[in-house]
Amino acid sequence: MSSDLLKALGLDATNAGTYLGNGEWSSATDAGVITPVNPTTGEAIAQVYATTDADYETIVARAQEAFKVWRTTPAPRRGEAVRLCGEALRANKDALGSLVALEMGKSKPEGDGEVQEMIDIADFAVGQSRMLYGYTMHSERPGHRMYEQYQPLGLVGIISAFNFPVAVWAWNSFLATICGDICLWKPSNKTPLTAIASMRICNEALRDGGFPDLFFLINDAGTELSQKMVADKRVPLISFTGSTQVGRQVAEKVAHRLGRCLLELGGNNAIILDETADLKLAIPGIVFGAVGTAGQRCTTTRRLIVHESIHDDVLATLIKAYKQVEGKIGDPTDPANLMGPLNSDGAVQQFLASIEKAKASGGTVQTGGTRIDRAGNFVLPAIVTGLKNSDEVVQHETFAPILYVMKYSTLDEAIDMQNGVPQGLSSSIFTTNLKTAERFLSAAGSDCGIANINIGTSGAEIGGAFGGEKDTGGGRESGSDAWKVYMRRQTNTINYSDSLPLAQGIKFDL
Ligand code: NAD
Repeated sequence: MSSDLLKALGLDATNAGTYLGNGEWSSATDAGVITPVNPTTGEAIAQVYATTDADYETIVARAQEAFKVWRTTPAPRRGEAVRLCGEALRANKDALGSLVALEMGKSKPEGDGEVQEMIDIADFAVGQSRMLYGYTMHSERPGHRMYEQYQPLGLVGIISAFNFPVAVWAWNSFLATICGDICLWKPSNKTPLTAIASMRICNEALRDGGFPDLFFLINDAGTELSQKMVADKRVPLISFTGSTQVGRQVAEKVAHRLGRCLLELGGNNAIILDETADLKLAIPGIVFGAVGTAGQRCTTTRRLIVHESIHDDVLATLIKAYKQVEGKIGDPTDPANLMGPLNSDGAVQQFLASIEKAKASGGTVQTGGTRIDRAGNFVLPAIVTGLKNSDEVVQHETFAPILYVMKYSTLDEAIDMQNGVPQGLSSSIFTTNLKTAERFLSAAGSDCGIANINIGTSGAEIGGAFGGEKDTGGGRESGSDAWKVYMRRQTNTINYSDSLPLAQGIKFDL
């Protein structure tokens, strides 16, 4: 079944992992081999040849040439290129969604949903291509006009995480493309096949539409080539999605060369349930947020902060719901399953280590917390009680389905707990009290990039700017005015008078 799927997407048992442009995939085989593993079975799916230094140089040179043409192509025409990519993705949604499920391990509906996000951001970018607005200002000098405009930036290096193996690239590259940039993509070495498939689909659509090469692909067996791109002055923007630990290293390197960084790093997201919460909404929101994608979303719900008056009832209901999920853990390509495996054996080890740490810190595992005895990386999602928000294991993002449930008595305390972690990505409160909701959204409320009322923490619509504060890195991508990061801002002053009034009224008699 998996070989049919690979074939349908133009993939094989061994694949070139480098798209050089001009319709050419590299034939170099001496930079190492990446072997993506099916997390459901533990078996290798295929092999991918990594990118050589020489191929990287070819790509940068071709991308620089492509930029010279693309930067002067009218933005609405650039939108047309992205529209064709969106159409091609629509036609391949089922197959690409299945490959995401196979290689990453998320459920088939989630895999399809990820491809749908690519399509949605393509649609968004097409519209945005006619709206790269700058302000017009009133000059303080007579006969002068001032305005600002946004110009293309150049090459954009995109480094993406394994858990959103295709959508993150689309969020970045489709906006960067309408902004006039050329994108170089370095996907996670756990998910190279979905990247190759996405590039095939989009680059073929571009070529069929008569467009030049706008997207290049590099794959790295280790991290050397990735680090080279991060340090490369010819790539003015590095958009990095991944862990806080690696993001910090990337940010330091880019800062050293005074480049620009867009950081989308780890989260440690909490839901608060106050005493008025509508549990019909809250319980599915919590379970989906904590267990969906097997806890491997940056917006996964990791902490639940519950008013003491409803704590015990909520806990009992959640445990019951988790038991129902346990019966639907299995092969993610089977649409009947609600939860698939963790992506790697290493992730299972980290899950188990955090459970042990939680117990050693005085926590009680109320349900789950063990590896399922079968092939693949399957675990039982865990609920842990009895820990303090300040406990080290709670402060840390374990990229797995562990939910820490904690009690509070006053709203101030709940908001302090919500904000009292290093990360600042997504947050939410379930309440039917208007004052409480507004407090949560006020300047003294949530400190996160995303703050929701009566919606969980997990996932986000592409129309809003996506990202978070503090250790989440401060970047914003996707909707709203996130496009601006892919452009350079320029202020222009035009003198149409017959004199040259100097700034601040200074006289400079010559
Ligand atoms: P990771 O940090 O291990 O890897 C991310 C990417 O960086 C991969 O492509 C990897 O190959 C590359 N990389 C590794 N070392 C590098 C180095 N020294 N220099 C340059 N690149 C390097 O993260 P992961 O395990 O793939 O993904 C999970 C993490 O990503 C979680 O922390 C999750 O919260 C975060 N994430 C954040 C968002 C967001 O939008 N905020 C979205 C998805 C995932």
